[in-house]
Amino acid sequence: TGTPVTVLGLGMMGGALAGAFLRAGHPTTVWNRTAAKADDLVARGATLAASPSAAIAASPLVVVCVSDYDAVTDVLDGPLDGRVVVNLTSGTPTRARALAEEVAGRGGGYLDGGIMAVPDAVGTPDAIIAYSGLRSLHDAHRSTLDILGTCLHLGDDPGLSATHEMATLVLMWGMLDGFLNGVAILGTAGVPPTAYVPIARTAIDTVAGWLPGYARQVEEGVYPADDGTVDTHLSVMAHVIEESESLGVNADLPRLAKALTERAVTAGHGSSGYAALVEQFRQA
Ligand code: NDP
Repeated sequence: TGTPVTVLGLGMMGGALAGAFLRAGHPTTVWNRTAAKADDLVARGATLAASPSAAIAASPLVVVCVSDYDAVTDVLDGPLDGRVVVNLTSGTPTRARALAEEVAGRGGGYLDGGIMAVPDAVGTPDAIIAYSGLRSLHDAHRSTLDILGTCLHLGDDPGLSATHEMATLVLMWGMLDGFLNGVAILGTAGVPPTAYVPIARTAIDTVAGWLPGYARQVEEGVYPADDGTVDTHLSVMAHVIEESESLGVNADLPRLAKALTERAVTAGHGSSGYAALVEQFRQA
């Protein structure tokens, strides 16, 4: 028993979402472009709909998880009156807001969600799903959404979920690129990547500990140089670039850091702390 739910899209993630609803005993209607991907779910009790519009008609709550927003537009077919669409497809804030308006125009409610987990974690509290869109909609369906993972509600603006996803992705790429760049540098000295892991971990933990202080400085718009100044960082960057070039290692990352840091110095922040660089990230 429980609210009937529909899941459109049964790829790696959509299949996991539908599986979690089935395990929790919800009447679950599914549809996938390639119908064979529903076989296993149907064997476990799901109902296969003949078309997206039939699947949408079957349940008040419609979860969509396909490759991208073009695919979402393809599958959100037919009337949406009285339906709440929960779109868990990754995309941009702009498209999330446009889709929310479109769904509202067609009589439906809209929640956007970012899944911060792999398919295996879906259906456990380890899967964090960050929703945006009207809180009243989120709260009304909270007990059903709780089945998929731990719910976070970020705010009423439907674009907030995708905005958080963008912010988190650039953070993760930054950390991963930094680690891999470090591996390349150490490789020139014959140090294996596994030997670097404990030191890299400590560095990441140390930086994580600085975040609350940085965030406070950024909110206040003052960047006291509690540790090192921007000028000090700049001279170290120049050495790292010079040495990377002589080692024959890619120096794009430290060059980017140096370019931003030089701009911060030009803007009068040579004696500020590193958090002053936020002003460089705020402009295109
Ligand atoms: P898959 O490639 O496994 O699945 C893609 C799904 O989209 C399939 O069901 C596919 O149908 C469907 N699809 C693609 N184009 C169309 C279309 N034009 N019309 C109808 N259906 C279409 O991807 P995932 O399940 O891994 O990812 C789905 C979403 O979830 C993505 O936005 C991804 O970023 C997000 N996500 C995934 C995570 C993961 O770890 N996998 C983690 C967090 C978010 P068909 O089977 O017919 O090809």
